[in-house]
Amino acid sequence: MTAIHATSRPPRVVIVGAGFGGLSAAKQLAKAPFDVTVVDRHNYHLFQPLLYQVATAGLSPGDIASPIRGILYRQSNANVILAKVSGIDTPRRELLAEGRRIPYDHLVIATGAEHAYFGHDWSSYAPGLKTIDDATYLRRRILLAFERAETEPNADERRRLLNFVVVGGGPTGVEMAGAIAELAKRALAADFRSIDPRCARIILIEAGPRLLAPFDPALSEAARRSLEQLGVEVRLGASVADCDCSGVSLGRERLQTRTIVWAAGVKASPAAQWFGAESDRAGRVPGHPNIFVIGDVAAATGPDGKLLPGVAPVAKQQGQYVAKLLMARAQGRALPGFRYRDFGAMAIIGRKRGVAQVGAFKVSGLAACCYGAWPTSIS
Ligand SMILES: Cc1cc2nc3c(=O)[nH]c(=O)nc-3n(C[C@H](O)[C@H](O)[C@H](O)COP(=O)(O)OP(=O)(O)OC[C@H]3O[C@@H](n4cnc5c(N)ncnc54)[C@H](O)[C@@H]3O)c2cc1C
Repeated sequence: MTAIHATSRPPRVVIVGAGFGGLSAAKQLAKAPFDVTVVDRHNYHLFQPLLYQVATAGLSPGDIASPIRGILYRQSNANVILAKVSGIDTPRRELLAEGRRIPYDHLVIATGAEHAYFGHDWSSYAPGLKTIDDATYLRRRILLAFERAETEPNADERRRLLNFVVVGGGPTGVEMAGAIAELAKRALAADFRSIDPRCARIILIEAGPRLLAPFDPALSEAARRSLEQLGVEVRLGASVADCDCSGVSLGRERLQTRTIVWAAGVKASPAAQWFGAESDRAGRVPGHPNIFVIGDVAAATGPDGKLLPGVAPVAKQQGQYVAKLLMARAQGRALPGFRYRDFGAMAIIGRKRGVAQVGAFKVSGLAACCYGAWPTSIS
């Protein structure tokens, strides 16, 4: 292994992950007396909330990915390294990344989350939606299903190709189901000669009793109604028992399909295993006061002891907090603990419907689409 050692001596803050959390931390440190290094396995920051639009051909990958170097180019104390991190040598304070050792004085881990299949090996049958590659793969599968159905002589196979099953009734599943319905019932409606894409069945499966569990029950119900108006079949209280290349089993019932979208669960990226620890509420790793874990990879709880949601505003606020904490420490000051400020949540259903909620304020329908509780862009 070759070693890259710091030569100058502002303390070196290394941030792993240029998602919402990592970039917020880096930008907050713009004027601070630190050398900031952002390490990411990709050279772009991804706006994950719009991945479903890429997966359903509404947007191109370039519309939701911005070069990390472009975002940080004005920040003279920031440097970017393209590398996949695989471990940490905590005694030597070095990151291990593709044969390199990257030294740090303070380390911020913001590597996000990945799909969880609850112990099953279903990823090849039911791909999830987390990366640009996931989105373009799903887009290919969805569009090819229509193309194959167009020339498929066997009626059963044609039906199977025109069935689309989305597993998971959280925001991603709701948005995906709505967008596939729009694609089938509007965008592609007149494009084929042998099949009628409007006959496609889009089935959204949720194991719990309602969609969008973190939202108010009235909004869950509004989301279900909106989806059904778009032609989506919503199946509540239905758990997936098995998945394979020809369908999904719900107990004894079998749904035949060639396209399954997995939106049922996420787990933290494996970064915590690099040092075998969980972080506390402020994102600090016990036993390593100079290492912070933020965003989706952190299991941070609020003052009520409840887990904070895996959303962009949590990651951004934690990134800003860690940066302020490092600056305060450098000045010998203490900082009060992290508090999450909840500015609300929303889910978009098709082109013209949605649900949004901020505290006690709730809105659904077209007005929700205008509400704009989405995380603002990072750049
Ligand atoms: C489909 C979808 C829809 C969503 N919709 C919304 C929404 O509407 N509103 C909302 O607030 N939130 C939404 N979220 C959640 C939101 O995107 C996440 O909470 C947020 O991105 C978390 O930020 P983060 O910085 O923790 O991680 P991420 O933004 O996931 O960034 C992690 C970064 O770490 C990098 N990385 C990972 N592993 C390594 C490694 N080993 N080495 C180097 N780099 C690595 C990745 O390349 C990535 O750039 C959605 C998520 C998805 C997947």
